[in-house]
Amino acid sequence: MNPTTPVGGPELAEQAARELEDAPAQEIIAWASETFGPGLCMTSSMADALMVDLAAKVVPGIDVIFLDTGYHFPETIGTRDAVESVYDITLHTIEPKRTVTEQDLALGPRLHSRNPELCCHLRKVEPLQRALEPYSAWLTGLRREDSVTRRDTPVVQWDERRRMTKVNPIARWTQDQVDAYMAEHGVLVNPLRYDDYPSIGCEPCTKRVAPGEDPRSGRWAGTGKTECGIHL
Ligand code: SF4
Repeated sequence: MNPTTPVGGPELAEQAARELEDAPAQEIIAWASETFGPGLCMTSSMADALMVDLAAKVVPGIDVIFLDTGYHFPETIGTRDAVESVYDITLHTIEPKRTVTEQDLALGPRLHSRNPELCCHLRKVEPLQRALEPYSAWLTGLRREDSVTRRDTPVVQWDERRRMTKVNPIARWTQDQVDAYMAEHGVLVNPLRYDDYPSIGCEPCTKRVAPGEDPRSGRWAGTGKTECGIHL
C-alpha cells in the first residue's frame, strides 16, 4: 500500500457527485485515479469481478482489498484466487485481529447468531478501517438498486467516519446493465451466483433466495439486519 497525503473533502465530493452523476463508470473511475493517484484503492466481496474488471482496465495494478472474515464460503475464496490470477490488480487480503477460533474462545461460539452487530464490527468494520487508513479514496460496487438504504447513493461521497472519499461508479446501474456488461466482457463470477445466492456474504449469514425475491433477503435472514456496517 502507498501512504499518501490526504486529499479531498466534502466540498470536492459534492461537486464531483454533481458533475459526474451522468458519467459512465469508467469516467468516474478515471476521475478518481487522476484526483487521488496511489491514494485510491477498491474493495471487493468477490461475489463477482465486475468492479475489478472496470477498475483494472482504467487503473492497472489497482490495490484491491478483500476482507477475509474467516467465515467465507470456499467458493468465495476460490473466486478471490481466480480474480487475482486473471486481472491486473494488487490484491490485499485483510484479516480480523482474532481468528474464528480465538474469537470463539474469547467471546463464545457462534457470535454471529448471538450478536451479529458485534461479529460484523470485529470481522468486517474494524479490519476495513485498518486497511483503508493509508488511502484517501476507495471505489465500491454499491448500487441504488441494491436496497432501500442504498437508493440515494451518490456516485461520489464524503465518508465522514473514515475522513476519506468514497466513489461508487456503478451507483446508477440497473441489474440489466450489470448483466449486459458481465456477459459482454466475460467477467468472472462467484459460482454461488448460479446456485440461488444473488448476494453473497459470510456462510453462516447467507441463505439461498428463491427466484423473484429480494436479492439481499438471504443476508442475515430473519434478524432484521440488512447491512454489515461497512457502508453505514
Ligand atoms: Fe459475522 Fe455474519 Fe457479520 Fe460475517 S456476516 S462478520 S459471520 S455476523
